[in-house]
Amino acid sequence: MRYVSTRGGPATSSARDAILSGTAPDGGLWMPEAIPQLPAERIAELAELPYPDLAALILSPFIGDAIDDQRLLDLCIEAYAGFDDPEVAPLVPLAGRHWLLELFRGPTLAFKDFALQVLGRVLAELVGERPLVLVGATSGDTGSAAIAAVAGRPNIALVMLHPEGRVSEVQRRQMTTVDAPNIVNLAVRGSFDDCQRLVKQLFAEGVGDLRLGAVNSINWLRIAAQVPYYFAAAAKLNAIEHPVAFAVPSGNFGNACAGYVARAMGLPIERLIIATNSNDILHRAFTTGLYERGEALATTAPAMDIQVASNFERMLFVADREAVPEQMKALAENGRFHLTHAQRDLVDARFSSASADEPAIVAATRWANERAGQVIDPHTAAGLHAALHSDLPHDVPIVTLGTAHPAKFPDAVAAALGERPPMTEALQEMFARPELYEVVDADAEAIAGHVRKLAGPSA
Ligand SMILES: *Cc1c(COP(=O)(O)O)cnc(C)c1O
Repeated sequence: MRYVSTRGGPATSSARDAILSGTAPDGGLWMPEAIPQLPAERIAELAELPYPDLAALILSPFIGDAIDDQRLLDLCIEAYAGFDDPEVAPLVPLAGRHWLLELFRGPTLAFKDFALQVLGRVLAELVGERPLVLVGATSGDTGSAAIAAVAGRPNIALVMLHPEGRVSEVQRRQMTTVDAPNIVNLAVRGSFDDCQRLVKQLFAEGVGDLRLGAVNSINWLRIAAQVPYYFAAAAKLNAIEHPVAFAVPSGNFGNACAGYVARAMGLPIERLIIATNSNDILHRAFTTGLYERGEALATTAPAMDIQVASNFERMLFVADREAVPEQMKALAENGRFHLTHAQRDLVDARFSSASADEPAIVAATRWANERAGQVIDPHTAAGLHAALHSDLPHDVPIVTLGTAHPAKFPDAVAAALGERPPMTEALQEMFARPELYEVVDADAEAIAGHVRKLAGPSA
């Protein structure tokens, strides 16, 4: 399997180098040259497989000969052993045609664990002799999931930036209470957009001759490792006979992109319903064809408080690759671009969208509680809002992706339901541990200094 850049640059990459490098040299994102296909009879059999076996089977063509199949299976078994439900991604009935796929059973209680638990192990497998320094920015959930995945791994270090005071206390403590010599947490005096800009600057300018790597969802393996749960849920609902729809709480479009890849591999997905919160750039792009950056608003679903959905570039590429370099240039220069006809056709055929403002998030949280006895978090509630308002025929089952555990967002859940969700045991233990982090200015040179220090005297 070869990888090509969404910006059309001449460089291609092996799976190994695409995963280790994060982005292509022309600034684009790596995409597989062709999407592998899974025939219908194989998909029907997946319902019988344990989750790690299913994950290894789906990932295998994307990893190619970078890791052999038996070893990949071992890594997937290890990656999902730490989840607190034997099904890994349990599918729970809500009411009527609505289902909830619980993707928050991993160590940090958000769906990011699905990809990062695999990515951490795959990076350790591929890193070789030369140390790898991962640099990432987080609005909350990526940081903790990445730290949990790489803490203590030899030859890999991680510098994680979060905006000071703008992640929830649970999210911050999940990052800062991990005591490992290869992890540094930096609280940046600025916004999440500042953090992301600083990371991009470090990648562009380099830090000495250090080898830098990405853990954000610009890394292709983050997307690939989210494809298997779409297959798992759809196989359980017998999608080969009756196609299903998924409602996807979206920010950077990584999860939705994985759903699209599942569809392109042959999974009968009737529709991917993209849910945004009040930061509705994707919903606007889908309904008007104009992709235009606005001001990021703070909501109760902070992991979706994003103005530029990085992985949307991958969809644009699939639909009309020639247009992408110009569109990305226009976005950088003017903050906007128009989708082409081919891109709009693909979007109309595969996706629909809805935006959930704060009252809609509260209403969906209450619906789940009253109709199904389920306590859901605000991100999941945004997804459920979109599912409940879908215009799909009534015989199409809709699976809402549960992207975070309600205990991660206790204040928002309490505001909707009048009662705080119980804390998990792991969270209780976490609150007793000391925090380790440094506060820094939003300055690339200061960050680079921390990267060098962590990398050690050889840097
Ligand atoms: C990251 C995240 C999202 C958004 O996912 P994308 O892949 O960025 O679209 C939604 N909900 C939660 C809880 C998250 O952590």
